[in-house]
Amino acid sequence: MPWVDQGNCTGCGICIDECPAGAISLKMEKADINMAECIRCGICHDVCPQNSIRHDSEKVSEKINDNVKMTKQYMELCARYLGDVEEKVKCLNRMKKHFNSQKMIAERTLKELEKLENN
Ligand code: SF4
Ligand code: SF4
Repeated sequence: MPWVDQGNCTGCGICIDECPAGAISLKMEKADINMAECIRCGICHDVCPQNSIRHDSEKVSEKINDNVKMTKQYMELCARYLGDVEEKVKCLNRMKKHFNSQKMIAERTLKELEKLENN
């Protein structure tokens, strides 16, 4: 999924003109992608002279840090609201289950997507 590195965007409007889905607009003079409209064609990434349209893969570390931070917050909240330090460990295990199921969904989805190559 594309995202805009707004610090680099000059607001030139090239991506807006080239987007076939009309998914990009200027907000505060920076490109802004409406993901509900975006068809994931990648054209904006190719035409941006500033290299400001970036790929999802560049946010992997950031997303991992967010997930760890969120898990720690839930662990603290479980201990606080349930009044038992053991609840922290139970919470951690629930979050591990959650991310394991996300992993399973991603792996199985990728398998299904491979089948589409022959369609
Ligand atoms: S083409 Fe690049 S620099 Fe120009 S508006 Fe789009 S994202 Fe910003
Ligand atoms: S990926 Fe394609 S549809 Fe999505 S914002 Fe970029 S140019 Fe538009």
